[in-house]
Amino acid sequence: MLRRSRVVRQPEIPLIETRNSQRNKAQSGFNGCERPRSSRSEGIWLAICVIKPKHQRIIFRAPMCTQRDDHLAIHSTNLARRSFLRLASAAALSFGFLTRSQAAESNAPPKPQNVLSHEEALERLMEGNDRYVEGKVKPHDYISERPALALGQNPFAGILGCADSRVGPEYAFDVGRGDIFVCRVAGNFADDYSIGSFEYAVAVLGTPLILVLGHSKCGAVDAAVKAVKDGKEFSGHIPLLVDAIRPAVKAAQDQAGDLLDNAIKQNVILNVEKLKTASPILSDAIQEGELNVAGGIYSLDTGRVTLVT
Ligand SMILES: [Zn+2]
Repeated sequence: MLRRSRVVRQPEIPLIETRNSQRNKAQSGFNGCERPRSSRSEGIWLAICVIKPKHQRIIFRAPMCTQRDDHLAIHSTNLARRSFLRLASAAALSFGFLTRSQAAESNAPPKPQNVLSHEEALERLMEGNDRYVEGKVKPHDYISERPALALGQNPFAGILGCADSRVGPEYAFDVGRGDIFVCRVAGNFADDYSIGSFEYAVAVLGTPLILVLGHSKCGAVDAAVKAVKDGKEFSGHIPLLVDAIRPAVKAAQDQAGDLLDNAIKQNVILNVEKLKTASPILSDAIQEGELNVAGGIYSLDTGRVTLVT
């Protein structure tokens, strides 16, 4: 049960938390918040993001803090940069109403080891892929991390991958639950839904890296190649996939080498560019050095991911 007499009763409810403040907490070992323990009080919370003018503080107060002013210092982050205020404002508008479980995501990161820069995040992905390729994957303890992950998530990378059953990002990068935020669709192209998902990952969860992950022998790209090259027609909703990939095939048509391989690579490049430019939330984060979008191709033959951007 909550120790209500010690709960801070100010109306401010945490909405988002910056990666810097997450990192500070991770480094200091701070864990002073008591999370909601009763499911009875589940419901919609009105989220109020307190954003003050430049050079003043943005305060994200945890609703279940068990101490008062000393913790407010930790829950406060001095964010003078104007562009990040825009980012926070956009997130506030986008996620003005949060469920309790969503609000809990704003507290101390459940996986402190996931609080990384985008350079560190990419390095960790590639190290995991090395282990996967070499058959030296780490054992994953799903039980002990379950309580922390039930309260929130702070994935260190977003993956835009193909739906192909042979390309499982968690396997390919040897990561566990709560580590990567994955959107998958045949042909690994960005659409409004995946862009919105990644906006959430970046603005609310603090994810510092998005990797567009294509793969060799991709059937979706191959369908687009056949449509462009041979005029092949497809039934059902498959033409929607083909149309989304068609620009990559056209861009690859004049390149030397295998058209399918080139189109797969071009599809990754175009979608990296799209994610970098399609959304102010993402592009502002990139400009501030808080986010990077990279591209890679997974080899079905070796399991190796090769970066292409
Ligand atoms: Zn595919």
